[in-house]
Amino acid sequence: MPSDGDLRLVSGWGRTAATAAHLTSALTPVDLSAAIKRAGPRGVIGRGLGRSYGDAAQNAGGDVLVTTGMNRILDVDVAGSTARVEAGVSLDTLMRTVVPLGLWPVVTPGTRQVTVGGAIGCDVHGKNHHRDGSFAAHVESMVLETPARGTLTVSANQEPDVFWATAGGMGLTGLISEATIRLVPIETSSMRVDTERAVDLDTAMARMTEGDRFYRYSVAWVDCLARGRSLGRSVLEFADHARLEDLPPAGRHRKRALRFKPVASVPAPPWAPSGLLNRWSVAAFNELWYRKSPRRAVGRVVAAAAFFHPLDLVTGWPRLYGSRGFLQYQMVVPDGAADTVRRSIEALSGNGCGSFLAVLKRFGAGNLAPLSFPQSGWTLAFDLPAGASGLGPMLDRLDEMVAAAGGRVYLAKDSRLRPDLLEAMYPALPTWRVVRERLDPDRRMCSDLARRLPALLDPPTPGAAR
Ligand SMILES: Cc1cc2nc3c(=O)[nH]c(=O)nc-3n(C[C@H](O)[C@H](O)[C@H](O)COP(=O)(O)OP(=O)(O)OC[C@H]3O[C@@H](n4cnc5c(N)ncnc54)[C@H](O)[C@@H]3O)c2cc1C
Repeated sequence: MPSDGDLRLVSGWGRTAATAAHLTSALTPVDLSAAIKRAGPRGVIGRGLGRSYGDAAQNAGGDVLVTTGMNRILDVDVAGSTARVEAGVSLDTLMRTVVPLGLWPVVTPGTRQVTVGGAIGCDVHGKNHHRDGSFAAHVESMVLETPARGTLTVSANQEPDVFWATAGGMGLTGLISEATIRLVPIETSSMRVDTERAVDLDTAMARMTEGDRFYRYSVAWVDCLARGRSLGRSVLEFADHARLEDLPPAGRHRKRALRFKPVASVPAPPWAPSGLLNRWSVAAFNELWYRKSPRRAVGRVVAAAAFFHPLDLVTGWPRLYGSRGFLQYQMVVPDGAADTVRRSIEALSGNGCGSFLAVLKRFGAGNLAPLSFPQSGWTLAFDLPAGASGLGPMLDRLDEMVAAAGGRVYLAKDSRLRPDLLEAMYPALPTWRVVRERLDPDRRMCSDLARRLPALLDPPTPGAAR
C-alpha cells in the first residue's frame, strides 16, 4: 500500500500536468529502502529539487519520495579532487563548499538548484559537453537502493550495467543514496569569457565548431524569432575558468579569487503580469538583447555563477509564461543533420509562438548509458508557453524530423513525446529494460513519465499503431 504521506499535487518545473501523489521525505538511506518496500501498486519515484520540466519526478496515485533532506557532504578529498555526498545535496550547496577549496563540479547544468541524485538520474550535461561529457562520466561510484537486489555500490567498473542504467535512468532503477563525484581544480571562481555575435545560423555553427577546440565551455544563444537572412542569428560565448593572472592585480581581487557568494536571487517583478512572455514582448527583448551584445569582446572576466546559472538570478520566472505553464523542448541530432536544426528554427520563427532565446550547443560523444540524452552532434533547447497556438502539431512534426535524422529529445525536459517514437530515439532502450527488469521485476519504481511512455517498462506490442 502507498505511504501515508500527504496527498499533494506535484508538478515539474514547467507546471503543465500536476498530479496528486503521496509525498514523503527521506532523511537516511533506511528511509529509501523502507519507501521501496512499502510502495503500493502505483509504485514510488525519487524526487530531488523538481527541476525536470515534465513528469519525471511525479507519480499519480503513488508515492513520491523527496530526497532533499539527505543533504550532507560526507567528505571532500581536496588532493584527489573528489567529493562524497548524499544524493539530496544540491549543486548550489556543493559549490558553496568546494569552490573556496579550489574545486568545481566538472558538469553543471543551467541551474545550481538540482540535486546530485537528479543530476545522475537525468545524466545532465553542461556547456562543456564537447570536452568533458555528461555528469555520469564524473561519478566515481554511487550507492543505490534497489527493489530486488537491496543496497548496491556501483561504478563504471563494479556492476557497470547497473551504473549505466541508473545514469539517465530517470529514477526507474532505484533510489540513489550517495555518490562520489570527481571535481576539477580551479584557481578562481571567475570565468574568462569571449563573446561574439553571429549574423546567421551557418556562421554560428561554423564558429562553434571552430571554437570548441580552444575552449572548455561554449554556448550560442539563438534569437528564434529572427527570419530570412537573419535566421538563427546568435550571440556566442566561449569560456574557460579564469586563472589568477586574469584577475586585476590591484585591490583584493586575487586574495578573494575563490570567493563564491552568488548574488541572492530576486523575485520576478510583481508588476510583471502573469503571461508577460508573448510573441511581441519576446521579439522586442530578443532584438534588444542581440543589439546590446558586443560584436566581439575578448577576455571579459565574470563570476562563474553569472556565466553558468543566469536564470538562478530571478526566482519565480516561470510565472511570466502564464497560468498554463510552459514547456521546454530539447533535441539533439547528429553532426551530419545540422539541417534539422535549421528546419526547427524555421518552424519556430514561422510559428512565432514567442520562444525566448534558444540555446544551441555542440555535444561530444555520448557515453555507455542506454538512456543518456547526449550524443555527438547539435543540441537545441527552447522554452514555449504551453498555451501557444499550434504548439502540439508543430512539436509533433519536430519529433518526427528529429527521429528521422537519428536524433532524440531529452526526457528530463519532455512532457508530451508521442510514445511510439521513444524506441526510435533511444535504440538502446531494450538493453536498459533488461537491466531494469532484473533490479525491479515487481515494478515498484514508477513515475508519470514511465506510464506516459510505456516502452520504458515494456517492449512495444508488434504491429501496434505507429
Ligand atoms: C533553469 C533550468 C536549467 C536547466 N539546464 C539544464 C542543462 O543545462 N543541462 C541539463 O542536462 N539539464 C538542465 N536542466 C534540467 C535539470 O538539470 C534536470 O532535470 C535535473 O535532473 C534536475 O535535478 P532535480 O534534483 O531537480 O531532479 P528532479 O527533477 O527532482 O528529478 C529528476 C529525475 O531524477 C530522478 N531522481 C532524483 N533524485 C533521485 C535519487 N536520489 N535517486 C534516483 N533517482 C533520482 C527522479 O526520479 C527524476 O526521474 C535545467 C533545468 C532548469 C529548471
